[in-house]
Amino acid sequence: MFSIHDEAQLTALFEQEGIPKFRYAQIENALYKNFVTDFSEIQTIPKDVRNLLKEHCFYRSLTVDLEKTSSNGQTTKILFKTQTGEFIEAVIMRHLTGRNTLCVSCQAGCPMACSFCATGKLGLLRNLEMYEIVEQIVYAAKLLYENGATLRNIVFMGMGEPMLNYENVKRAIEIATEQKKLNLSNRRVTVSTCGIVPGIRKFMTDFPQTSLAVSLHAPNDEIRKSIMPVDHTYPLKDLMQILDEYVAKTNKRIFYEYIMINGVNDHVKLADELGKLLQGRLAHVNFIPYNPGEGTDSDGFLPTPRFIIEKFQRTLEKYGIPSTIRATMGDDIDAACGQLANKK
Ligand code: SF4
Repeated sequence: MFSIHDEAQLTALFEQEGIPKFRYAQIENALYKNFVTDFSEIQTIPKDVRNLLKEHCFYRSLTVDLEKTSSNGQTTKILFKTQTGEFIEAVIMRHLTGRNTLCVSCQAGCPMACSFCATGKLGLLRNLEMYEIVEQIVYAAKLLYENGATLRNIVFMGMGEPMLNYENVKRAIEIATEQKKLNLSNRRVTVSTCGIVPGIRKFMTDFPQTSLAVSLHAPNDEIRKSIMPVDHTYPLKDLMQILDEYVAKTNKRIFYEYIMINGVNDHVKLADELGKLLQGRLAHVNFIPYNPGEGTDSDGFLPTPRFIIEKFQRTLEKYGIPSTIRATMGDDIDAACGQLANKK
């Protein structure tokens, strides 16, 4: 059995059975434009083809364990259970501008062990298959579609490090952006990495139009190492070098994520250090107020007060670097990455 999202296997099966190619186009349309939930709903194809699909394919592997929407209706968190029993999360964020963003997971757990992250506490359970990533996307797109809304943005900022499950993430991005499938603009897909240098090298060749976010979280190796073990393998010097190559090749601005943790990485002198590091680089910094949650509070981390984040922002302005303070969404539903799965 294989997933209905596995185009290569499905078209090979059709070829072997002498089924004309346009049948795949009909299935594609039903899956990604009309969001059918079962083979029996694909009325455009004959019954014998539907039976063939039932015999060889599965439509969905993930089940929804929990779906929670925040009290203001802006955030919906979906906790999926895989067929092998792991829990993974996806979050829909409905911005006031009307833009809808989905945050997807690419691994169950994560091996990178960032100390502020609930997912990092789980360790790596396994890489998700391509179809498990696509199913999260299709589920969210359908949910929005049923409410008269459209999925516009996808961010790979859920559980896991995308560069460590590269091939499956790559195929999922292709399905999200192919015109005949979900048809999202490449620029509206963002892949976020904690700084895996070889992954960034592949990514800039395969997806020069797709957006890149980098979890920086500190402007020097000393602090970065203390909260992000990846810095031992790929220190800032190597990271900044590949990011400069990325910008030279793609001419795209990089989004630097900076989680603000009280007393850890928010000393005012670090704002200047950050400014100096990014000065002259095509950069946008997203400050993320630390979201205390299950699985991370044992480290005693607390969020940085708002006025300090604003001070960081003003300092960066002096260096000509634009920045945003990310709105906290979904605090009441454990929307930060890994919080629900960690509870499970
Ligand atoms: S922040 Fe990202 S890379 Fe770090 S442990 Fe969490 S999921 Fe993994």
